[in-house]
Amino acid sequence: MAGHAGKILRINLSTGKIGVEHIPKQVIMDYVGGRGFGIKYLYQEVAPNIDPLSEHNKLLLLTGVLTGTNAQSVSRWMVITKSPLTGCFARSVVGADFGAWLKFAGYDFIIIEGKAERPVYIHLTSDSCQILDATELWGRDTKETQESLQQLYGRNTRVACIGPAGERLVKYAAIVTGRRTAGRCGTGTVMGSKKLKAIAINAQRNLQLYDPVAFSQLVKEQIASMREDKGYHHHREMGTTGTQDITNKLGIYPVRNFRYGQQQGYEKITGEEYRKLRTGEFGCYSCSARCGKAHFVPAGPYTGAYSEGPEYETIWVFNGSIDSTDIGATVAADQLCDDLGLDTISTGTCIGFAYELYERGIITKKDTEGLELTYGNHSAMIALIKKIASRQGFGDVLAEGTMRAAATIGNGAEAYAMHIKGLELPGYEPRGAKSMGFNYATASIGASHCYGYARQEIFGATIPREVDRFAEEENVDIVVYNQNFRAMIEVGICCTFSSGWKWFPLLFGRMLAAATGINQFADSEYLWKVAERVINLERAFNVREGYSRKEDTLPQRMLTEPLHTGEAPGEGQMIRDQDKFLDKYYLVRGWTQEGIPSRQKLGELGLDYVVKDIEDYLRRL
Ligand code: SF4
Repeated sequence: MAGHAGKILRINLSTGKIGVEHIPKQVIMDYVGGRGFGIKYLYQEVAPNIDPLSEHNKLLLLTGVLTGTNAQSVSRWMVITKSPLTGCFARSVVGADFGAWLKFAGYDFIIIEGKAERPVYIHLTSDSCQILDATELWGRDTKETQESLQQLYGRNTRVACIGPAGERLVKYAAIVTGRRTAGRCGTGTVMGSKKLKAIAINAQRNLQLYDPVAFSQLVKEQIASMREDKGYHHHREMGTTGTQDITNKLGIYPVRNFRYGQQQGYEKITGEEYRKLRTGEFGCYSCSARCGKAHFVPAGPYTGAYSEGPEYETIWVFNGSIDSTDIGATVAADQLCDDLGLDTISTGTCIGFAYELYERGIITKKDTEGLELTYGNHSAMIALIKKIASRQGFGDVLAEGTMRAAATIGNGAEAYAMHIKGLELPGYEPRGAKSMGFNYATASIGASHCYGYARQEIFGATIPREVDRFAEEENVDIVVYNQNFRAMIEVGICCTFSSGWKWFPLLFGRMLAAATGINQFADSEYLWKVAERVINLERAFNVREGYSRKEDTLPQRMLTEPLHTGEAPGEGQMIRDQDKFLDKYYLVRGWTQEGIPSRQKLGELGLDYVVKDIEDYLRRL
């Protein structure tokens, strides 16, 4: 086996049984790796309608074909499971070194099943795997947990773990490795429900490539291409710490729970302001971009706060949501979320939701235990983060996510809950970047920018064509393209940023082929079909759970209230006709008008085994 390790590590926490399985050749041909393997195994092993926090759910930690190689920016890894936040398919992509270490230990992915009775952690090496007692680690934050395991096993240990939020089953808890997180969809919640505190890996670099000479030549070409690429240099310089400069100018930087698209005083939180606090850089395995920027707060109420971040989404969510321009508070909030193991996007969007409810009098100081949730009050935001992670008082309500919190609060709170399928919206305003918005609406994991990032609308990318960001059904092809493209890079697992640089279309497929010896992987049409297969299987997973057209909707606010953008373009924009978009989107996808993959489409993609499941589901309706 080359490129792939060819093996799956299966760990059952209920029985303590640990086994190794081989990946069938046909699965490799049909799903390639990473996200492809993830949905293939999740679909066949997790039955519909199980409780995501029960022993019946499974947690898959996956590498890609290129993870651990010396190619640049392709060593990402991901977590796939059934989400406790949405009840449907979940995938969250993450960086740092953990994925490379997993591959070096000899596995393409781990399947964790069952549930331990007491807190445990897993220690994995190339020739052993043990389930060990984690009583001493339970209750510790993610930094302390990683440090403890590194003290025990050495500095060369790589750890993925949960913090107190995951232990307390906050619905949007993250899995943290280094200071990078698999944040979205409650992956850390599922890990917490299994009483699994951490996975620690010790392994030596060990990868077989089919044609190491050809692969090495391709890496040389990749590096030469990146050196001449302005996009690479800009990303290396700024990471995503300046994206708010762009989104504010475009009027798509959500403010006050998605009412405004531009923040007053945004010049106080530009990338240059963040640069003034920068103290270092960090990156993922084998990536010279090192786009993570560390920040230290030297003065003010948050003196001493330090974070290896924040990145754009976090900058936005802890400024825009509560209309604050305090960088110190944002760095402190990011540090807290990383330590406690929380997804920053869902945390901040839940807090923005609470601030709007407070403004409207739907909740009062009595509900918030005295916290004044007035715009700009960042100390209350910091207090709320702690309450959410510990599920104290009002934090317990917000820990359930906006959809469930709104149902608990009542009094019309649902109208202000900014989620799709239960997953909170990220930091691009759908009314001003409509392909991004419709990607949120149709993504199998809920409101995710990463599921089909509309680079055309944010950065003016011209592949596959130029885009009018206010157009709707005219851009169905763009939404489909972006979603398929993302599924394709995530078999690698290539980083989203790097996939937008010039090397990608020329070299990615050839790298897959040189690594594995499977020449079909060099064919972009072959990979595109794999991506479509992945998207359709993810959709089928959701259909089996009872999801269809009715869940593919943006929040009511986007459909009924005009956007206000200040000096930026887009004032008054709304989603004009979501139904027209969906009609055409389903047609292009080959799905029924209920959003269900058709027998013909599934047949074309070699997914005949899914047809019966879908027909059984339809019969039960
Ligand atoms: S560009 Fe940034 S996120 Fe992507 S692989 Fe490199 S360091 Fe990681």
